[in-house]
Amino acid sequence: MASDPSTARCPGCALRLGLAAPHCAACLGTPWAFARTIAAFDYAPPADTLIRQLKTQLRLSAAPVLARLLAQAVWRQGATPPDMLLIPVPSSRASLRRRGMNPAAEIARGLAAQLALPLTCRALGRRRDTARQTALGRQARLRGAAGVFYGRQDLSGRHVGLVDDVMTTGSTAQAAARALLAAGAASVTVLVAARTPQVL
Ligand SMILES: [Zn+2]
Repeated sequence: MASDPSTARCPGCALRLGLAAPHCAACLGTPWAFARTIAAFDYAPPADTLIRQLKTQLRLSAAPVLARLLAQAVWRQGATPPDMLLIPVPSSRASLRRRGMNPAAEIARGLAAQLALPLTCRALGRRRDTARQTALGRQARLRGAAGVFYGRQDLSGRHVGLVDDVMTTGSTAQAAARALLAAGAASVTVLVAARTPQVL
């Protein structure tokens, strides 16, 4: 895999740290709603192929492989709440129509089996489709993602593992984590298969 386990990741957002710093600059400046982020690998060759197989080529067989890599990252980094409830980031309606499935939910299903953790795909709702995220800058993405998600069930006292395929700026995870906390979640840990190596 592309990951070099000797290089530390930022505990807040899983960005790879080039220097011996405890956090990346972005996390020091902007505290996230989620407590930490665990990523299996960088969104870079060759491991990013697995993500493209799942998201672009719609090869569902890539999901359990990604789930296994993510489970290994969770085991390696340890200290996740024992009864963590896994919740995938819901797809936009347009993505669901295009793909016929939610890649995050497919990974979450495999992860729940690997880690023997409960899973629900109904706890988070998604209000409306946002403009294509890649066309926007970091601040615009943070604004655009805010308020997109809402809680659909009481999560009082639950520690949540928020599952997604890729984390880019963190704006989607931030908006989803805010909604989970508003629904009563005690904490949110972001679990992503891939992390883009730099904040765009
Ligand atoms: Zn960070």
